[in-house]
Amino acid sequence: MIEQGSRTRELEMRHEVGVYPKRDAVLVRGQGALVWDEQGRENIDCVGGHGSANIGHAHPAVAAALAHQAATLVSCPGIFYNDRRGELLAALAAVTPAGLDRFFLCNSGAEAVEGAFKFARLATGRTGIVATMRGFHGRTMGALSATWEKKYREPFAPLLPGVSHVPYDSVEALDRAITSETAAVILEPVQGEGGVRPASPGYLRAAADLCGQRGALLIADEVQTGFGRTGSMFAVEHDDIVPDLLCLAKSIAGGLPMGAIAVNERVAGAITPGAHGSTFGGGPLACAAALATLGVIDREQLVQRAAENGSYLLARLGAIASPAVHQVRGRGLMVGVELKEKVQPYLQALLGRGVLALPAGPTVLRLLPPLVITREQLDRVVAAIDAVLPH
Ligand code: PMP
Repeated sequence: MIEQGSRTRELEMRHEVGVYPKRDAVLVRGQGALVWDEQGRENIDCVGGHGSANIGHAHPAVAAALAHQAATLVSCPGIFYNDRRGELLAALAAVTPAGLDRFFLCNSGAEAVEGAFKFARLATGRTGIVATMRGFHGRTMGALSATWEKKYREPFAPLLPGVSHVPYDSVEALDRAITSETAAVILEPVQGEGGVRPASPGYLRAAADLCGQRGALLIADEVQTGFGRTGSMFAVEHDDIVPDLLCLAKSIAGGLPMGAIAVNERVAGAITPGAHGSTFGGGPLACAAALATLGVIDREQLVQRAAENGSYLLARLGAIASPAVHQVRGRGLMVGVELKEKVQPYLQALLGRGVLALPAGPTVLRLLPPLVITREQLDRVVAAIDAVLPH
């Protein structure tokens, strides 16, 4: 078993290009909020597939839907109608905010952002994009142009022209930046990679109003916050706003690669045949997985569980008395512990105690557990964090 693990490490090290700083664990199996390594060691998974595992690992409903669809029809490009796709589109329209019931289906978060930029240009005839400092929207050339972190962007310049970055959560900054050239403003309702930073009440509403007044579109990037993560189906619901475009991915299909852009009629009306496309987007296999996933979120009341367990987790973490903690913040089960020092050594120490966690920037410890995580598992996560922090 140990040999198999080191063989896996060796193969990945030899043949991957090396973009991922690796953690020293070979994961081979998952169930709910748990994952096991090749030696059978159990871990509580607060990485959650980078937020793509909201319904938990190896959910039987998704496994069954995949097995059935794999034996029925895997490929069906968008030029044909498909039964699973039709069902999924109707199910998505039933959960997305009112007015957002037209979709483009793709394969990832970055693709959802790319498509949203193209659609915003089509619908407005303008090219400018206003994004935010500390925002993250993906790593393809268009999406990367809106991503803030310099080390991701600079080696790949020149990127898209006409993209500006304003301080997040500042209405005045948006007011100054949105002009008659602005096609769209793109925002995460809670910044994820940038440090788990929820917008203040009123910020999203002001952004929507400013966009409306100036003929620009609001793109909500809910790739990370969508599908129950923050304790509402979509995080824009906390502020009771409806963006013009909504970017979705990660947990949409139970961990399978899928993304979607939901748009309103104004935007859909500007999109013509041939304006965009994708070979795999909306394929029957991913659609079957997504349909099963929406069923699980509903039946297992995962949105409500994320809200309740998120409040519980925030309170328990907030009670940890360590001089290394600067602030605990989050929304639902999207939680960040900002430290006064570098987070990496703590991630390593947590791995040693069977807890997988993420960074969000250099000093924030981020938890994105599957929404099926139990109270008892959350208690074990809190105990592990408490144990590794200095007192
Ligand atoms: N937008 C947001 C808000 C994200 O968090 C991410 C991924 N962390 C992306 C876009 C990009 O998604 P993907 O990795 O699927 O391209």
